Amino acid sequence: GRAGHVAGAGHAGHVVVAGAGHAGVQVAASLRAGGFAGAITLVDDDSDHPYQRPPLSKDFVADMAVAPLPLRAEKFFADSNVMLRDGSAIREIDRRAKQVILQDGAVLDYSALVLATGARCRPLDVPGAHLRGIHQLRTLRDARTLRELLTRARSVVVVGAGFIGLEFAAAVRGRGLEVTVLEAGDRPLARALTAPMSGHLAAAHLSMGTNLRCNETVARITGTVAGDVTAVVGSSGTSYPADLVLVGIGVQPRDELARTAGLPVDNGILVDDRLRTPDPAIYAAGDCARFRDPASGERIRLESVQNATDHGRHVAATLLGNDDAYEALPLFWSNQGRLRLQVAGLSGAATHTVVTGDPDRFSVLCFRDDRLIAVESLNSPGDHVAARRVLTAGTAPSLARDAQDGFSLKQYAQ
Ligand code: FAD
Repeated sequence: GRAGHVAGAGHAGHVVVAGAGHAGVQVAASLRAGGFAGAITLVDDDSDHPYQRPPLSKDFVADMAVAPLPLRAEKFFADSNVMLRDGSAIREIDRRAKQVILQDGAVLDYSALVLATGARCRPLDVPGAHLRGIHQLRTLRDARTLRELLTRARSVVVVGAGFIGLEFAAAVRGRGLEVTVLEAGDRPLARALTAPMSGHLAAAHLSMGTNLRCNETVARITGTVAGDVTAVVGSSGTSYPADLVLVGIGVQPRDELARTAGLPVDNGILVDDRLRTPDPAIYAAGDCARFRDPASGERIRLESVQNATDHGRHVAATLLGNDDAYEALPLFWSNQGRLRLQVAGLSGAATHTVVTGDPDRFSVLCFRDDRLIAVESLNSPGDHVAARRVLTAGTAPSLARDAQDGFSLKQYAQ
């Protein structure tokens, strides 16, 4: 075996996982499913039972009656003999002793350590950002606070037309409240989506009644003498009244444990194609991991459930002795009101796009030169399934062939 393996399914050892989010819980589940007989401990500083994040900006804030969705039933942890220490933070890694030190002083020995610490919201750094009524959305606690405040709010301003900002805005409109979304760029989701798709989403949000303002950054936020937010002032000078502000301007990887332990970090914990850091006993998975994109060879960091769970599965397999490189196809989804967006592959490097379908159910095929690299689908789940197949199997159409009339992605997915 290679250095760093826990030594296979039948052997003992203690896998400690920092973070019981989508990636961390998957590591534990896949280790047990693969027959790992050693000890597993999940440590998480969040005191809520591990839950799914996607609903928090969608159904959960749209409807007071919606309950949080657990990542696994409570009995999973006991039944699979996975020790869950929630409400406790890992403060430090002692790599030489192969130990982690918890906030409460407890010390855990590990044979392998998986850093699955996720990300935190990027703070908005403008005058007035500390006022009461300005919130971010990452945790169940954040979502509970926001949906409670929505019962009293009148005018909501969302800063940032990213996935979370737009999902939240659609939920707010669904509750019949006024909402303004301020976006610094010239179109929503510019980093993640092609111009045709983000143009469609922009128009759809306007028709939902959302006041979407692009090319508008936040200059400052104003409040009452008592410290309650009253308005967000844009760089254009326009003042947008607000009694509730959601800041959704992206996240920063929680890579500080790795950094202070002397591991290389650069917008995420740097890992190799086995998702391993230069320390053979330490891995990183999910939002906090910066890994090599198998399609482009570039170092990337992704923020999606599929990325986190596929990373988790891969780390578990590696710990059980598998020696394959990580090569999953990136997938994303977002639900914004009645809009169902699904993306397969990464469209950022596209040089050409071709739109197929109808005005409100269509796909954007993204080509790099002649090669299909990604497909963005709106309200077209069949296209998305076909896209996943062709992108994984490498049977994708070329741009030249695709340009013909009557093209259907599904014909290539058989
Ligand atoms: P996380 O799920 O963030 O888990 C990391 C955990 O580690 C956290 O619980 C954190 O508290 C804990 N932790 C961090 N540091 C320490 C420490 N030192 N000690 C102990 N514990 C620590 N993705 C999609 O694909 N589709 C969606 O529709 C979608 N919607 C989303 C909606 C919202 C509101 C949010 C916030 C995210 C959404 N995402 C969505 C993104 C997705 O949830 C993340 O990509 C995913 O949660 C990443 O999983 P992870 O395990 O890497 O990190």
